[in-house]
Amino acid sequence: MSNTNYFSNKHGLSRFLLLVTGCCLLVTGLSACSSKPYFTQTRLIMGTVVEITATDKSAIEKAFSEIERIDALMSIYNPNSEISRLNKQHELKVSPDTLYVLEKAKYFYEKTEGAFDITVGPLVKLWNIKENMYKDADRIRVPAKDKIDKMLSYIGSNFIDIDAEKSIIKLQGNNLVLDLGGIAKGYAVDKAVEELKRCGVTSALVNAGGDLYCLGKKGWSYWTIGLQDPYKRNEISRKFALKNRAVATSGNYEQFFIYQNKRYSHIIDPRTGYPVDNNICSVSVFAGDCLTADVLATAIYVLGEEQGGELAKQFNDVEIKIMAR
Ligand code: AMP
Ligand code: MG
Repeated sequence: MSNTNYFSNKHGLSRFLLLVTGCCLLVTGLSACSSKPYFTQTRLIMGTVVEITATDKSAIEKAFSEIERIDALMSIYNPNSEISRLNKQHELKVSPDTLYVLEKAKYFYEKTEGAFDITVGPLVKLWNIKENMYKDADRIRVPAKDKIDKMLSYIGSNFIDIDAEKSIIKLQGNNLVLDLGGIAKGYAVDKAVEELKRCGVTSALVNAGGDLYCLGKKGWSYWTIGLQDPYKRNEISRKFALKNRAVATSGNYEQFFIYQNKRYSHIIDPRTGYPVDNNICSVSVFAGDCLTADVLATAIYVLGEEQGGELAKQFNDVEIKIMAR
């Protein structure tokens, strides 16, 4: 049975508003009882602040190397990454990591009925949210509808062919562009945790800009994750005690631009070609692994409260917290 914890009021009465932020989760460990001291190291990777806390400094180094390795394979900002080369060549023999992530992405594409779709690359470029965020209002251009509609005809993860035995990926047509921005970070967190475990670490926290995993306990207590109030940057709206659990958040309050009084988020609805426009401010997903949490947070944000809640119920061990207007 699904363990989904979904707060919503369909009748528009007092909605039990939860949550929280995504990219700015504030994380603390409650306990000071551990015999060994914890170290926290921070690096800028995957366009975000990655923080790893554990008692073993050399294991932390190795976990960072693992995240850097995944970034080098999957970043669209690195022209030599496998994903960039695949986007250019339309056919490539890929590493086991890229193969795994692409298979997962296709699985979630089907499971979310297209709400999660890594072929949104051309739309992400067209909307140019990351640059528009920093532009003056009079310099922002919103794409024309006919351009968006044309792009929609070649958007769809069903156009990605995967030969798992040969590890060969083919992109049908010449227009497909993959963007792993909604899945690679979660996978990288999982790989970092795997590396820490391989080094014998049983207690650690890996936090990649709010996509995080709490390994074991911190001393005698669970890890305490404070979810920041999206409207008050330095305030925590709610705390969660977690052990062997991942959390990821997606929303419209960190990466967006405003054009003619309308907010355009960095998450695209692949069914319309437009940035998601619904009443959700943020979705946090708690799951057994960070890839699943990362993907479902994006997908639920696209689908909205009701459909997103139904989607979450299909997964054992997944809980969601939605903050809506
Ligand atoms: P997140 O912030 O984890 O929700 O991921 C958002 C990022 O994923 C965006 O910056 C895009 O790179 C990409 N993206 C946008 N819309 C979608 C979508 N509907 N499905 C999959 N990836 C998306
Ligand atoms: Mg995410």
